[in-house]
Amino acid sequence: MNICYNVNMTSYDKIIYSDRKTLAITVDSDGKVIVRAPKKFPLKKIKEFIAKKERWINEKKERVKNAKKFELDSNVFVFGDEYKIIETDGITRLDGKIFYLPKDKKHDAFLSLLYDIAKEKLTLRTKYLASRYSFSYNMVKISFAKSYWGLCSASNVITYTAFLVLCPKDVIDYVILHELCHTVIKNHQKEFWKLVESRKALYKVQDDKLKEYSYILKCFK
Ligand SMILES: [Zn+2]
Repeated sequence: MNICYNVNMTSYDKIIYSDRKTLAITVDSDGKVIVRAPKKFPLKKIKEFIAKKERWINEKKERVKNAKKFELDSNVFVFGDEYKIIETDGITRLDGKIFYLPKDKKHDAFLSLLYDIAKEKLTLRTKYLASRYSFSYNMVKISFAKSYWGLCSASNVITYTAFLVLCPKDVIDYVILHELCHTVIKNHQKEFWKLVESRKALYKVQDDKLKEYSYILKCFK
């Protein structure tokens, strides 16, 4: 017997039934579509739900597919701009928008250049957004953390992971503003989100978008 799948049709890979009250769909880092559903939820309705979300699912899958390509072989987006990657027998350097990376230590060389870019651009952008939105902070530091995009300490030192510069510009701005709001309110309670919203009306969109870019952090192990 042959089973034919319509490759253009969005489907699911797994349904997890639990005590939850609503349906939810996620696309994991392997591009698998996982549906979370209340116990005994009718399959027909799940399929209808998936069909409605088809466009969103396909966009997510596309992102995951692109994430797999994140292999320092041809190009990379930094602060929203496209940079080329060229292997060299010479020294590590950044020339305009070209990364020259020695073949034998491509990964480390890329990270050291990424650090410099992050330090320069995130420091400047934080300064700009702080003055535009009337925030004050202590200083900006850069890490290679894979567990967060940004952090704000009790003494208002803001630390970003260098990988943040691999996100689109609006996402970067959102993270910077988020951390600047932490200079005023340290927790994530209602008042905090009100403050974020007052400075950036699109915060919900960007918070969701940011989650989609978490694959970047997974690419650097
Ligand atoms: Zn926060």
